[in-house]
Amino acid sequence: MRYGIFSDVHSNLEALEAVLRALADDQVDRLLCAGDLVGYGADPLPCLERIRRAGVVSVCGNHEWAAIGKMPLDWFNEHARAAAEWTGRQLPESEQAYLADFPLVWKGEELTLVHGSLDEPEQFHYVFDPADAQACLQVQQTPVTFIGHTHVPGVYIIEEDSRVRFLRTSQWQLESGRKALVNVGSVGQPRDGDPRAAYCLYDTQTQVVEIRRVAYPIEQAQAKIRAAGLPEFLANRLAYGY
Ligand code: ZN
Repeated sequence: MRYGIFSDVHSNLEALEAVLRALADDQVDRLLCAGDLVGYGADPLPCLERIRRAGVVSVCGNHEWAAIGKMPLDWFNEHARAAAEWTGRQLPESEQAYLADFPLVWKGEELTLVHGSLDEPEQFHYVFDPADAQACLQVQQTPVTFIGHTHVPGVYIIEEDSRVRFLRTSQWQLESGRKALVNVGSVGQPRDGDPRAAYCLYDTQTQVVEIRRVAYPIEQAQAKIRAAGLPEFLANRLAYGY
């Protein structure tokens, strides 16, 4: 089975289209999303429509909860709050109901999917360092979990001395008996200094996890953000990947 796994689309249709095209070329069997389809960008509705059409299974992120009024907006900084309020107004009841159905955690036979951390998933804890990853790995039941939320891709593994290490690598061979936690990065608002959209391939046969990048027309997404009257900062940061 070949999985295509991505996260944090953030209403960036241009980036989403580029990733779905790349995943179609990669001939994956199943598409999974680790949440935050909406928020920040100017195309929440077209993104949800694309996600549905592609048959993507998604868990919910904090931005889904914000858009459907399930999360207090004071959780967010000023720009994120403005975008969350704007996003909520764009989504008709049918779309809000669609998002409300997303589970916090999705568990398959070989992998788990969650937005922030498996440690209290409803709190959307960030996995920023090995200590955060340890808390998640401790409750993880499958060999590998895929997450998003920080918009920084990489792999956390448990070493033989049972310490957790972060590998900022784009390819990793999973080892049996050693759990791993993979951050697939962000499709629509990367924050690791590489502005290209990120996505992940997981081949259960070879047990190889690969994080890939694909260029997309950033200026188009920026122009839409500005035209929608969303904060200028949200347009600017796309070019830098921060
Ligand atoms: Zn996000």
